[in-house]
Amino acid sequence: MICIGMAAALAGCVPKEEQQKPAEQPQPKEEFKYLVDEFADLRIMRYQIPEWDQLTLQQKSYIYYLGEAAKCGRDILADQNFKYNLVVRKTIEAVLNSYQGDRESADFQNFVVYAKRVFFSNGIHHHYAEDKFFPEVSEVYFADLIKGSDASLLPLNEGETVDDFIAFLTPVVFDKELYKMRRSSEDDIIVNSAVNFYEGDIRKADVEAFYNKMRKPNDEEPISYGLNSKLVKKDGKIYEDVYKADGLYGEAIQAIIGWLQKANEVAENESQRNYTQKLIDYYTTGDLKTWDEYNIAWVQDSVSHIDFVNGFIEDYGDPMGMKATWEAIVDFKDLEATVRSNTISENAQWFEDHSPVDPRFKKEECKGVSAKSIIVTTLGGDCFPSPPIGINLPNADWIRKEFGSKSVTITNLMEAYDKAADECPRSALKEFAYTQEEVDLCKKYGSDADVVHTNLHECLGHGSGKLLPGTQPGALKEFSSTLEEARADLFGLYYLAEPRMVELGVMPDAEAYMAEYCSYIRNGMMSQLARVELGKDVTEAHMQNRKLISEWCYEHGKVETLRATSVQTPEKDVIEKIVRDGKTYFVINDFEALRGLFGELLAEIQRIKSEGDYAAGKAIVEKYAVKVDPELHKEVKERYNALGLKPYGGFINPEIVPVTENGQVVDYKVEYPSDFVAQHLKYGKEYSFLKAKH
Ligand SMILES: [Zn+2]
Repeated sequence: MICIGMAAALAGCVPKEEQQKPAEQPQPKEEFKYLVDEFADLRIMRYQIPEWDQLTLQQKSYIYYLGEAAKCGRDILADQNFKYNLVVRKTIEAVLNSYQGDRESADFQNFVVYAKRVFFSNGIHHHYAEDKFFPEVSEVYFADLIKGSDASLLPLNEGETVDDFIAFLTPVVFDKELYKMRRSSEDDIIVNSAVNFYEGDIRKADVEAFYNKMRKPNDEEPISYGLNSKLVKKDGKIYEDVYKADGLYGEAIQAIIGWLQKANEVAENESQRNYTQKLIDYYTTGDLKTWDEYNIAWVQDSVSHIDFVNGFIEDYGDPMGMKATWEAIVDFKDLEATVRSNTISENAQWFEDHSPVDPRFKKEECKGVSAKSIIVTTLGGDCFPSPPIGINLPNADWIRKEFGSKSVTITNLMEAYDKAADECPRSALKEFAYTQEEVDLCKKYGSDADVVHTNLHECLGHGSGKLLPGTQPGALKEFSSTLEEARADLFGLYYLAEPRMVELGVMPDAEAYMAEYCSYIRNGMMSQLARVELGKDVTEAHMQNRKLISEWCYEHGKVETLRATSVQTPEKDVIEKIVRDGKTYFVINDFEALRGLFGELLAEIQRIKSEGDYAAGKAIVEKYAVKVDPELHKEVKERYNALGLKPYGGFINPEIVPVTENGQVVDYKVEYPSDFVAQHLKYGKEYSFLKAKH
């Protein structure tokens, strides 16, 4: 599970001099610019790799090889997102690399913005909203760019003329109705989605029938059916085209395997070598049983300093929530920050025992919730350029139950988000907070409380609870991601206010949690709507989850609801909607009561998951998580746009460069490039393994 925490979500921007500086944060040696580019609704940042020089040469080599493996699946992700993404991207690359005409014109600059957006989204659909976006140039100009570029660089079919190619490509890029949504929630979700997990005339019912036939009833250790394949219907027959070395995406997978093999020669220890070999075996055969074996071995390694994720992992991109996009990260432990995560995970059983959910749904024994804070060195696939700040893996429920899960918080990315916000002069916090008191509270505790919430969400939230015997892991289908994120968030929100958090030294004092409660509700009710196009629904799982929680608590905390359902006769709404000078605010009147509501909702969502109650899951998501009040939406967009803030952030990877002496690698140095387009053109040249087909 990837988790986009509040820091990443909010894009909250606080003027430099007003920002609280955590005293123990080491200052960068020289002036390091974090925020390097802004366009459309995106901002591009850089992140640092602190402690690089403390690593041994062997560790650096290991990271270098894993980093190369992490860049080799870039084409896979683009192709998974949409069948013509590679054609579009390679055309863009051809233009940027060879166009002979005027590069200073406004048209060309607009084309560059489109190119950057395609690089950012790994395709022609918005990385977050998932709808198709368009170049702000005419079709004629777009065609001229292609004609003015080196034809040998274009992904032409054999015998295809440039004019024929343009005729094919123009509607793919410009037609508003064609391939409209990458992942659609409208029936039929398969037919209406442009994702490339299904080919031929396949409908939702076909997919369900295909996999239902495969599933073994009462299997205690089910493989992740359908995880690493495309489902194809040809000549009336449905079959899986499996991602593996000699199958679909084989060329890229072979390249990944090659680097993993090199990495294995310099691995830190035997266990690392063993599971990396398992991963290689899995990539070679595509066997999902081997994938489970790899995960079991991987999750039990908590001693290695260096770690990585590389594979088909998250299923958010699939409307059916089964097929996984390719992703990779390489990282090493942030030893200092890991102390706090450890404290949380060491107390996992206590948190599980005291959670407000029905005892039937609790884990009797929390196995090996291993939590750490990490420093990433390379992002790849679905983690690049827009990464999560927390990850909790593996995803298979039975493995989590039997062997625990590994949970990480990525400290150097969180720091980059904070520092980049520092470099920006306007503040979303000031705009959406109702009082100066709330602003002060959030400035004082905001970053800290956010890190702890992310920790709790990752270390404990996703790992908590269990399914009742007989409940299918996939029972919640298209609502599973949203409900799972809500469950993890609620677990964190509930425990942030737990007095024991202060006793354990995890939270600084008894009021720090209030900062996170304020930001959470502000974001869930309002500011995150800045990311949604007017007239559209909220579709992304993490956004839906925040909206679900906030709206549910808002409604259930209203005076009339409380009076109707309990003996209490409160004076004020728990969360109150206030309009001042035409601007809407959501103000928390009773933090204790809000915590109670978080607990209640956690109990209900845990019940839904444990029992596999699809109908209740659907009802709660559809009621609270999807539809937006059009008036409020418009207001939020206007207020946000007036600030000139970009709601989404992504990164440029540092380059890890071998230093050679007399033909021998004697060291690896880190360089921090600042040109977003240049990095993508470099990746396009050096890490492109798949043929762009049309
Ligand atoms: Zn999560």
